[in-house]
Amino acid sequence: MKILVAVKRCVDANVKVGVKRDNTGVDMANVKMSMNPFDEIAVEEAVRLKEAGVATEVIAVSAGVAQCQETLRTALAIGADRAVLIESNEVLQPLAVAKLLRALVEREQPSLVMLGKQAIDDDSNQTGQMLAALARLPQATFASKVVIAEGRATVSREVDGGAETLSLTLPAVVTTDLRLNEPRYVTLPSIMKAKKKPLDVMTPEALGVDVAPRLETLKVSEPPKRAAGVKVADAKALVVKLTTEARVL
Ligand code: AMP
Repeated sequence: MKILVAVKRCVDANVKVGVKRDNTGVDMANVKMSMNPFDEIAVEEAVRLKEAGVATEVIAVSAGVAQCQETLRTALAIGADRAVLIESNEVLQPLAVAKLLRALVEREQPSLVMLGKQAIDDDSNQTGQMLAALARLPQATFASKVVIAEGRATVSREVDGGAETLSLTLPAVVTTDLRLNEPRYVTLPSIMKAKKKPLDVMTPEALGVDVAPRLETLKVSEPPKRAAGVKVADAKALVVKLTTEARVL
């Protein structure tokens, strides 16, 4: 069983980004980039399925600039067998990525496609759902447990007020939530080994996909600054403030 895992190169989760002066977007000059944390969880899960003898091959795919190769090397160091970069200098919106992934699904015919539930840069939470619709595959989003057996995936997902369990026929699309697993620490030997694993580069044109942006960003602005707090003299004054001034925002 083949698993295709989509990994996005994003601003590192520990970087505090700022908005550009002209409000056209986030200032990305010289910021540290890393694999989207939800995608690390997806790669870890796929590799665990391989280690458990359920999967036979794990393929990592990233769409974007040439530097996405670094993200793919990280996926290979976690344990993916090979990688595919769909190279493009365009801003790739979720619909474009979903179309690219659909084209790759047609070529590779994986039994399972794993993605993060959302990318921490655009917070779109769209690509997995769009891919499932375009490829006409069943989907389970926000997975906190995945069990593969007898041609089906049983996926637990946290929903408001409890847990839901879905049973999907394979092939299927699954997007990962934080609770699914804790990705392993990547060791130096596995980083060295990853350098020798195959990494193919292709273009959106070769896959027959038009990736031109369909959405226009009108404005990006900082969130409003929080007003300074006040110190109260004692508990009595606090109770007075809470009863007369406090309100739900
Ligand atoms: P989003 O819909 O943008 O929040 O992204 C959801 C998931 O889609 C991510 O966690 C990735 O698994 C995948 N994805 C989004 N953009 C890309 C990309 N450029 N390359 C590879 N995977 C991507």
